[in-house]
Amino acid sequence: MRLASFLPPDDHTAGRDRIDDVQVVAGARGRTAVVVGDQVVDLTDPAVGLPGDMAALLALGPSAMEAAAAAAAGAARRWALDDVRLLAPVPTPPKVMAIGMNYRAHTAELQREPPEYQYWFNKQRTCVVGPGHPILVPPVSDWVDYEAELGIVVGRRARAVPADRWLDVVAGFTVVNDVSVRDWQWRTPTFTMGKSFDTHGPTGPFIVTPDEVGDPGALAVKTWVNGDLRQDATTADLLFGLGQMVEFLTTVFPLEPGDVIATGTPAGVGAGFDPPRWLQPGDVVRIEIDQVGVLQNPVAAAGTA
Ligand code: MN
Repeated sequence: MRLASFLPPDDHTAGRDRIDDVQVVAGARGRTAVVVGDQVVDLTDPAVGLPGDMAALLALGPSAMEAAAAAAAGAARRWALDDVRLLAPVPTPPKVMAIGMNYRAHTAELQREPPEYQYWFNKQRTCVVGPGHPILVPPVSDWVDYEAELGIVVGRRARAVPADRWLDVVAGFTVVNDVSVRDWQWRTPTFTMGKSFDTHGPTGPFIVTPDEVGDPGALAVKTWVNGDLRQDATTADLLFGLGQMVEFLTTVFPLEPGDVIATGTPAGVGAGFDPPRWLQPGDVVRIEIDQVGVLQNPVAAAGTA
């Protein structure tokens, strides 16, 4: 099953792409849907009655997933996928955790050693945007970079999860672009300030449930910038595996429904080139992860698009 968050065609905020509307769109929770073929089935249809907020829907657990599947097969209100505006599948995640230096070739391109311990940082949840939303180059830096990552969307509250039980907490998988402002990132050891500029958390287009993904530890991850293939790896190359990550995080704090975990990026980021190849206004970043989907976003200068 593929789950999405969307604004319907008649929503007053739909179709607004202006940069000064970023907060409106990024903060919009929209409605929840199941995607069936080229249609979105509205789970907030009163006949279905599920929450419009994805994190709230996921918190209802397996019964909500069954209700969503039933709605997809029934007569609930629906639109053509092309006619709605997709938001990030969880537009306002409770938290967004991301691991750094989790592919050997990526640590090498940045002249670092593979880490002994898992290296985690937060992306502020306000940076999350959906497919097609512009990635903004901020006025204070043009060192803007892309990072393709498999995203885990958490489906239940969990603490102290053993690595071999990690799938118990997973609602599904999505694509995350961990957009990074490298000079701001590297000025401090925590990375946080360079990872959380507005619009720098593109996520989507869908949450794909584990039954449709196959082995999440063997998925091809590819990034193109303007059609130029930059990243090409598989999740089999992760240094710390998906189960290890869930175990490590839940050793310290709970994961909660709707949390997004970005699992690290392979080699091929712009910072790895000499000279670096930063994203420029007018570029288009396309990330494809097998079985999970394609996330594409244009790049624009803040205040001009
Ligand atoms: Mn990253």
